Amino acid sequence: MNPLCQRGQASCGACCGLYNRADLSREAAAALLDRRTEALAGVPRTVEAFRAAAARLGEDEEAPLFPSVRVCPLLGWLDAARTRAGCLAHPLATGGADLRDCGVYDARICDSFLCPSHSWLSEEEAELAAEACAGDPYLYGLVVTDVPFLRAALEGVAALAGARVERRHLQDPRFLAALRALFALKEELAPGSEGLFGAFRAGPDGEPLPRAIDYAALGRPAPSPHDALLTCVGADPRSGNDLDALEGEVRARLEACAAALEAAGARDRRPALQIRTDP
Ligand code: SF4
Ligand code: SF4
Repeated sequence: MNPLCQRGQASCGACCGLYNRADLSREAAAALLDRRTEALAGVPRTVEAFRAAAARLGEDEEAPLFPSVRVCPLLGWLDAARTRAGCLAHPLATGGADLRDCGVYDARICDSFLCPSHSWLSEEEAELAAEACAGDPYLYGLVVTDVPFLRAALEGVAALAGARVERRHLQDPRFLAALRALFALKEELAPGSEGLFGAFRAGPDGEPLPRAIDYAALGRPAPSPHDALLTCVGADPRSGNDLDALEGEVRARLEACAAALEAAGARDRRPALQIRTDP
């Protein structure tokens, strides 16, 4: 699989620590990338200068949410339009020098690390995530690192529409917008929600903990038909999310996707215009 990190119009900075902050809102993440990009813009492309700049930036940053996971001050915007997040110390960003040793890891680790999504996602799933979140590194990073969420979303649409979601469907602007809105559930969860870190939830011993919504405790006789997706987004009071409200939102967004998919399919099936050639 092609790397997920910079893929088409999509980019991700999750493992460089983009979301490892108490305030991990879109606005705070963008402000952080702004500050670093501006601070590093005029720094000479030398190891000494970059190392000193990285240290200064690191001192000013708030403590990470997960202290065991590093936050690199060299993650910033790669383009003036702020549509692509990435490494400002990479040779492609510096114009030649590899300055990644000045970050929180070293160039060898930065070069070789591939998060688990690389081995879990199919090529088609990766493309769907990248195309639906094109130009939005904040949303893409949340989605592409949470394989169960991405799969549950795509399967939820397929179950309602009776058809698998395929890349060609994203050429339909209405379906593209609907799928993006479904993925955007990830950024609308209550602060501290388990769903924000779907891929990284670990128990006290570091091993992944199975997640389940305790429907009985919530007075519900049976699991929701959207249980897989609701579980992924942490639709549980322990996570700070209201199950009923989130279930309604999930249902509405899935139905919007399914309706758009069916409309796109109907247009596909419409008979071609017959052009008469006889006089
Ligand atoms: S979290 Fe995964 S996709 Fe994102 S930058 Fe890191 S390795 Fe790439
Ligand atoms: S130096 Fe490494 S950890 Fe830092 S932003 Fe670049 S790739 Fe990420």
